[in-house]
Amino acid sequence: MADNTTDGSHHIQNDSAEAMQINPQRAKQLVENLTGISKRIDAVNKSGRNVRLIAVSKLKPATDILALHQPQSSSPSSSTPFHTHFGENYVQELLEKSRILPRSIRWHFIGGLQSNKCKQLAEQIPNLWCVSSVDSEKKCNELEKGRKALLSQQQNGSGAEKLRIMVQINTSGEENKSGVEPDDALTLCKHIIEKCPSLQLSGFMTIGAIARSKATTPENVNEDFEKLREVRGAAAQGLGWEEDKLELSMGMSADFEGAIGQGSDEVRVGSEIFGERPPKKDAVV
Ligand SMILES: *Cc1c(COP(=O)(O)O)cnc(C)c1O
Repeated sequence: MADNTTDGSHHIQNDSAEAMQINPQRAKQLVENLTGISKRIDAVNKSGRNVRLIAVSKLKPATDILALHQPQSSSPSSSTPFHTHFGENYVQELLEKSRILPRSIRWHFIGGLQSNKCKQLAEQIPNLWCVSSVDSEKKCNELEKGRKALLSQQQNGSGAEKLRIMVQINTSGEENKSGVEPDDALTLCKHIIEKCPSLQLSGFMTIGAIARSKATTPENVNEDFEKLREVRGAAAQGLGWEEDKLELSMGMSADFEGAIGQGSDEVRVGSEIFGERPPKKDAVV
């Protein structure tokens, strides 16, 4: 539901019936940016496989997300969302956004994860679709507790599914990078499969070294992305799974085209869609 106001902006009644004001110029720009990224993805995706685009909206306002999920320019009779997958890095921010934005959004948690926030994350956000930054059994166990509790509340008709999990790999070997060591990936995968029935292993994620990311072009090979492929190959073999049951999440604004060339199934693009992010202390939901 949208009604035009005198200043030309739209008021949107969302699920929580709170009015959100979207600046039409900003909305148009965001749609153009995202469309441009999609075209660049298609241009390098020679194999024609599905490459999921996660719009990384951390530190950006909820109105930016709504502008991409339900653009006002789309025909009012069409209720098909324009863009569905959004990525967030901070638990509190995601909790707040998920409460005021439509349930048809598929949220990805891609940020540094603390064990003591996992249960809440998996239980309180029924449309949390995937957690991509999982790097310990303890965090898996807490996510399992939360999603199990949510799934058992069937009477609330939440429509929640098993929570998809990507194991984050420290492919660059940098000490300050999160993620499990490549050699420990299989053990964590087995833990998820055997001990966490409310979770579903869906693949591997890496960020990689910044320097390599900046040097990535569609022509040259990024070692972090090669490493992630190797991890998948070894895990698939160890589990007796087909490789294509395990997705690769690699590629951000600076290197997504190269990542797709190296087999990425999912790219996480923030600043190229939303622009520079404000410092965390200045961000408003
Ligand atoms: C912030 C972030 C991104 C997006 O980064 P951009 O360079 O803005 O595209 C992608 N992945 C992760 C894990 C992030 O934290």
